Amino acid sequence: MEYSCSVIETIARTLSVKSIRTEKPEGFKFKAGQFAKIKINGDSKYLSISSSPLRNYLEFTKRDTQSNFSRKFFNIKADEKVVIEGPFGNFFLQDNENKIAFIVGGIGITPVFSILEDAFLKLETRDFSLFYGNKFLDDIPFQKELSFFQSQLNLKIFYFIEDLANTPDDKQIFCGILDFNKIRICLTDINERKIYVCGPPSMVDTIISQIKIIGTIENVKTEKIFGYTKGA
Ligand SMILES: Cc1cc2nc3c(=O)[nH]c(=O)nc-3n(C[C@H](O)[C@H](O)[C@H](O)COP(=O)(O)OP(=O)(O)OC[C@H]3O[C@@H](n4cnc5c(N)ncnc54)[C@H](O)[C@@H]3O)c2cc1C
Repeated sequence: MEYSCSVIETIARTLSVKSIRTEKPEGFKFKAGQFAKIKINGDSKYLSISSSPLRNYLEFTKRDTQSNFSRKFFNIKADEKVVIEGPFGNFFLQDNENKIAFIVGGIGITPVFSILEDAFLKLETRDFSLFYGNKFLDDIPFQKELSFFQSQLNLKIFYFIEDLANTPDDKQIFCGILDFNKIRICLTDINERKIYVCGPPSMVDTIISQIKIIGTIENVKTEKIFGYTKGA
């Protein structure tokens, strides 16, 4: 079903990432972690919903690629209309999962942010760890909001930064791309956790092949952010 929704506000997240918030249509039900199809002036893309279902708006967050759709997304203003179809996907938590590890590349944070915001609003006590890979230290979507959730939830966050000349003096920041061998050193109970992996297809495939070398992927759920060839 398609819904025509007005944009309520737009939010700059980083220099290359922006969110738009729209009205939540009557009857639009979704689970934290799902995605929708967004049409702006005739051009559409799948985008994860980056807000909790408990919010009275829907939020979508996009990395700028200078594409036609990006231009429309980055230029949209309050009161303009977008068409939303969905929700889709099964990248959401089950009630019986109490220990969770998220492994996220770049803009793949969007569904995970929805899940963590939902956990925060529901005062959840589940044990979360987030391994979050980005190219640059100064271009990390939702970093401030995630720090806040870290202070409120049972959540540990570890950053992997590709473009770091020196290893920072910080136990929560690693140089280089996401690496499951480093992740399992941080998480000695990784075998007890449900693992959610989200990011560009190549990143998800790399992590899955690293997990397979060590064990099984029975406990792993993935979402591939198709559509980026240069990383996201
Ligand atoms: C389930 C799902 C959920 C998704 N959720 C999100 C989401 O929450 N947020 C989001 O941003 N995207 C998300 N995507 C991807 C989204 O649907 C688009 O495919 C993506 O944003 C690229 O679209 P575009 O219009 O920017 O580029 P397109 O016009 O579709 O393609 C342009 C091409 O140029 C490349 N390119 C050019 N410049 C860059 C650059 N700077 N960085 C990376 N690639 C570049 C891209 O790789 C792409 O192949 C999701 C996809 C799926 C399947």
